[in-house]
Amino acid sequence: MPTEELHRQVVIIGSGPAGLTAAIYSARANLSPLLIDAPADADKQTTPGGQLMITTDVENYPGFANGIEGPELMIEFRKQAERFGTEFLEEWINKVDLQSRPFTLHTDSRVIKADTLIIASGASAKWLGIPGEAKTPNGFGGNGVSACATCDGPLPAFRNKRLVVVGGGDTAMEEATFLTRYASRVYVVHRRDKLRASKIMQEKAFRNEKIEFVWNVDVAEIVGTPEHGVTGVRLRNGADGEHFTLDCEGVFIAIGHKPNTDLFVGQIDMDTVGYLKTNGHSTSTNIPGVFACGDVQDSVYRQAVTAAGTGCMAAIDSERFLDHLPVEMPSGEEITIEGEHITADRQLIITATGEIIQNEPMPE
Ligand code: NDP
Repeated sequence: MPTEELHRQVVIIGSGPAGLTAAIYSARANLSPLLIDAPADADKQTTPGGQLMITTDVENYPGFANGIEGPELMIEFRKQAERFGTEFLEEWINKVDLQSRPFTLHTDSRVIKADTLIIASGASAKWLGIPGEAKTPNGFGGNGVSACATCDGPLPAFRNKRLVVVGGGDTAMEEATFLTRYASRVYVVHRRDKLRASKIMQEKAFRNEKIEFVWNVDVAEIVGTPEHGVTGVRLRNGADGEHFTLDCEGVFIAIGHKPNTDLFVGQIDMDTVGYLKTNGHSTSTNIPGVFACGDVQDSVYRQAVTAAGTGCMAAIDSERFLDHLPVEMPSGEEITIEGEHITADRQLIITATGEIIQNEPMPE
């Protein structure tokens, strides 16, 4: 049962580039943000610091001419957020209530009240949902099947082995290239005959002699034995539907990510995939006082630098809201912390009591 109640002006969920940038800005604005992080858990795919913690070289984050390792970059983000007084809490949030402000978040041991909430809970790797993929003992997950080459590639089980990477995007190219450090051969198995990955990542993979592409196939099953782990993948040729087996000792699934928004289902507007909807001009969600930033609301750019940028926007949006300044909603209306609505055409102000006032310009 929860024992402690906390109340903060700004609560941030998530500790990737978006959450930590929001924390840096909110802390520097003297708002003493509380940042809540999920504890590291391999099964639930949570890593404090987010997806960059499981990345190798980051070559495109501005300010690092020679590149920087993902985990090192996140340590710097975190230190910067700590320096200005961010409070950190590593706990699972079991439930949120966003119906009234302050919003309420429940963990196993605490009830946390938030005047504003910044959601930066990121995204997690997607799975194919095929036989053999589930965690052991139901499949080979953890015994030859992984969704993170950087985490698992260096393990002895994958060294000097034939490995399969599934997918045709940048993640698949990055994982395949990384795995050639350890593997004897890497097969990139893709369902089409064209990659989605950026040109530069494609070319890097094409140039790598250890990488071989298997085009136009779906992975039907991961096969193996409990003693030996994975021994192959059963593939289905897209052209003639024929099945064949590709021998390998490891499989890395790299088919994209799913936004971490299960906690908010039914409370915040989302798109069909589950990305939180925000207003184009701001990070506001349909709930006044709740802001979303980073990969949880961005299905288009999904870069560390764009996540950091929207984290900054979310902090400024929440600060404005706390300052009783109107914040623009996805509907185009503006809403203040007191519950005043300014219509999308900016003609009317509807007060919290329902009074309708003409929105006259301020006299000179
Ligand atoms: P993407 O969505 O870009 O690519 C996913 C790939 O997996 C696609 O090729 C897709 O096939 C395939 N796929 C999806 N679902 C299935 C399925 N059910 N069965 C078989 N194949 C499937 O995801 P990524 O994670 O690769 O990239 C996401 C974003 O992150 C991108 O913007 C990317 O640029 C960025 N990124 C950047 C990196 C860097 O700069 N270092 C590294 C990694 C990612 P299809 O093409 O047929 O749809």
